[in-house]
Amino acid sequence: MAFLAIDDLHVSIGTKQVLHGINLAIDDGEVIAVMGPNGSGKSTLVSTIMGRPNYQVESGSIVIDGKAIEGWSTDERARLGVALIAQSQPEIPGVRVDELVSSMYRFRGLDAQGVTERIVSEAVDLSLDQTLLNRWVNVDLSGGEKKKLETLLVSAVPQSLVIGDEIDSGLDIDALRDVARRLQRLNEEQGTALLLITHYPRLLREIRADRVVVLVRGKIVAEGGMDLAIELEGSGYQQFGVETAEHN
Ligand code: ADP
Ligand code: MG
Ligand code: MG
Repeated sequence: MAFLAIDDLHVSIGTKQVLHGINLAIDDGEVIAVMGPNGSGKSTLVSTIMGRPNYQVESGSIVIDGKAIEGWSTDERARLGVALIAQSQPEIPGVRVDELVSSMYRFRGLDAQGVTERIVSEAVDLSLDQTLLNRWVNVDLSGGEKKKLETLLVSAVPQSLVIGDEIDSGLDIDALRDVARRLQRLNEEQGTALLLITHYPRLLREIRADRVVVLVRGKIVAEGGMDLAIELEGSGYQQFGVETAEHN
C-alpha cells in the first residue's frame, strides 16, 4: 500500500487556484522526484501535504499511512513520521540544535538518551562543523550549513517520509554529495521514502530516484525515470507549452 496517496487534489491559496487535480502515490521506501518550472506549484504541493495554514484543499484527498489527514495539524502529520526540509530555513534564536533534537525525540515519544552522541555522529557524516550543534538553530549559518543542519535534523529522528524542497539549491559540489548520501542512506537503511523537489538531475543521480514526475501549472504533465530528468535538463519545459518567461 502507498505510504502517501494523493487523489485528485485541488488547492488554492487565497483566491488563487494553484493545484488542479494532482494524483500521486508514494510507496514505502520509494524515491520520487518532482521537477517543474518556477511557480508551477511544487512548494504548494509539499506545504499542503504538511498542512500549512492558508493552503486550502478545495477537493480531493491526501492519505498518509492509511489515514485521511484532512483537517490534521502539521504536528499531527509530523507524528506519522513525515518531515519536510523546506525551501528556506527559519532561524530559531534561543533554541540550540541539541535542545531541538531532544524535543523532537520527546515529541515522537522516543527515548532521548544518547541524543548528543547521535547528532555528533550525524554531523561527522555530513562534514558539518560540530560547534554548530551548541549554537542556536540556523542563526548566522551559511546557506550550505543550513541545508546540512536540516538534513541532520530529519536524519536524527526516524522518519517514514522525508520531503526535500530544492535542498540542492545553494549547495557546492561536496556539500551536495554529503547531503545526498545521507538521504540515500536513510532510504536504504531505514526504508525512508523520499519526495525530492529539484531542478537538477545531479541530486537524483546521487540518490537514484525511482521515478520522476513533472509539474506544470498545477498539473502533473509527465512521468518517467532518470532519463526524463536528464532530458529536461537539456530541453527545458517548452515541450509542455511553457514560455521561457515563465521560468523567471
Ligand atoms: P514552485 O514551488 O513550483 O516554484 P509555488 O508552489 O511556490 O511554486 O507557487 C505556485 C503559485 O502559487 C505561484 O504562482 C505563486 O505565486 C503562488 N503562491 C505561492 N504562495 C502563495 C501565497 N502565499 N499567496 C499567494 N500566492 C502564492
Ligand atoms: Mg518552490
Ligand atoms: Mg531505493
